[in-house]
Amino acid sequence: MTDTIILLPDHIANQIAAGEVIQRPASAVKELLENAVDAGATDITLIVNDAGKSLVQVIDNGSGMSETDARMCFERHATSKIKKIDDLFHIRTMGFRGEALASIAAVAQVQLKTKRAEDEHGMLLEIENSTVTLQEPVAWPKGTSIAMKNLFFNVPARRNFLKSNAVEMRHIIDEFTRVALAFPEIKFELHANGVPTFQLESGSLKQRIVQLLGNNLQAKLVGVKEDTDYLNIYGFTGKPETSKKTRGDQYFFVNNRFIKSAYLNHAVKSAYQQLIPDDSFPLYVLFIELDPNQIDVNVHPTKQEIKFEDEKIIYAFVQAAVKHALAQYSITPTLDFDLDAGIQQLPSIQQPFTENKKQEAASGKIFQGFTQKNQAHFIERPDKSAIDSWSAFQAPLPAMPATDNDTYIAPELQLPETQSSSGAPETDPIQIARTYILIPDVNGFYLVAQQLAHERILYEKYLSASLGKPIVSQQIMYPVTLNFSAADALLLREVLPDLQQLGFNIEHFGSTTFLINGSPADLKDNEPQQTIDFLLEQYKHFNPQLKISRHEKLIRSMARQQSVKSGTMLTHKEMKQLITDLWNCHQKQLSPDGKNIFLQVDKQWLEQLFQK
Ligand code: ADP
Ligand code: MG
Repeated sequence: MTDTIILLPDHIANQIAAGEVIQRPASAVKELLENAVDAGATDITLIVNDAGKSLVQVIDNGSGMSETDARMCFERHATSKIKKIDDLFHIRTMGFRGEALASIAAVAQVQLKTKRAEDEHGMLLEIENSTVTLQEPVAWPKGTSIAMKNLFFNVPARRNFLKSNAVEMRHIIDEFTRVALAFPEIKFELHANGVPTFQLESGSLKQRIVQLLGNNLQAKLVGVKEDTDYLNIYGFTGKPETSKKTRGDQYFFVNNRFIKSAYLNHAVKSAYQQLIPDDSFPLYVLFIELDPNQIDVNVHPTKQEIKFEDEKIIYAFVQAAVKHALAQYSITPTLDFDLDAGIQQLPSIQQPFTENKKQEAASGKIFQGFTQKNQAHFIERPDKSAIDSWSAFQAPLPAMPATDNDTYIAPELQLPETQSSSGAPETDPIQIARTYILIPDVNGFYLVAQQLAHERILYEKYLSASLGKPIVSQQIMYPVTLNFSAADALLLREVLPDLQQLGFNIEHFGSTTFLINGSPADLKDNEPQQTIDFLLEQYKHFNPQLKISRHEKLIRSMARQQSVKSGTMLTHKEMKQLITDLWNCHQKQLSPDGKNIFLQVDKQWLEQLFQK
């Protein structure tokens, strides 16, 4: 037997390792933006073409690199940010693993231009397959530009794994949003396919949030700020009406690093208990600052997960800080830091910090909240009708189920289908629990789910409109401006042509702003912002695995959005109309998502039931 083990050549080893760091264009966006931030830039421009597949370029006015550093930076484990393992626990920079540029250089063609303030001229470097192919002086202002071209040009299998431009672009916007939120003092620009998409001037955190997540948030953010010995929390949390059915705008930053933490999300959500429906998610942008030695940032290659020395205490602080903020704005009825008993027993809470700081800490609001249960001050309950009105606004839509394919699921009808009614049942309908319509029939009865029935009716109406004549659009007297988060704005731009077909006349008006000039003539409630928000929410709810067209998703969303909801009282006339319309549908048994719309019960079945 011959020996079989070989040492992989560098460029292959690098390509393999790159898989961890660079999965898609957005990964490069994150790494390059973070490098620019680490280099002390005050002005950073991101350029992407073809959703980053052909180009991701970041230009900064930061420190620049020396000639040697410019060559070195593409080596694996080349970093200027740590020198020894201990440094990991004092990290203040975004990067430290020295892997990003090496990974990028292994899977794309790279062009680097860089110059330090003290150098006479800049350096141009081109790299392909981890090898420098060109190096020459170049005229360049202070700072660095790194262009990543044709990602995965040499790993076609991975290139095939990339998603559509729309999907990849959304990932890019997500990463851009995260970095831009963390550094509002830095000016950021994003150009996509030559079009300036974002231009974020340096400003306050609040301004940055509004610029990125939507102008409509201006008056809907509540400031959060708690300083303690152990950690500081600051940022903004949304008033209850900003909560959404999809987990979208939830941002946690620990020492300015965006992290994903289901545990901390839960802490915030729990602070909203009884303020928002259980199945919706609050919006927030929260920053936690604590001594870097209390966290381990090196538990994940892209550093989006970190480990806290004491996770429970962070949970408790976050929850208390958000509760406190909501209480101060009279959003929660009372301020009772009703902490989990387990958390109250934690030594860090029982014996705060150092003895000499104890006095000081014990007088702090947040500490009192932890230790003196029921010492909360009472804040007047907000106007009940205000709460009701937004919960009504929130309540109507149950989550949309995910189905595996785009065709109808064959119904598992429990009941025999003996009746051959060609027309709608004739007798008088009765509403049950404001949700179902009971229709007696000579041979039994039908029980129709009103919302599902209406969804089916609208769905078929919109479907035929989209295939043939567009739905009539009614001009709005005064066009209304609409504002969205960056991600929603992108989504909306994608679906504008389809919306046009459905009777919405909406124009993109620059970055996240749109102008609505007309809406479908028979639109149920004419609150354009709400209508479109709902529509996008519904749209996003579809399981991404679901292979149905954008158009189909939109029609289903719109049908659901416009349908008369369960819980709505219907008049006799309305019920009759609904039943007639349903019976005129192509497919009257199943809702657009494949749920049974009605139950048909006949005498035989009833007799079996009663064992006659
Ligand atoms: P890390 O950020 O973990 O150190 P990278 O591979 O991202 O690793 O970068 C390697 C090194 O290249 C950095 O430590 C830094 O010294 C240098 N570098 C990268 N990007 C820039 C930039 N935009 N400006 C100045 N120096 C940079
Ligand atoms: Mg880096």
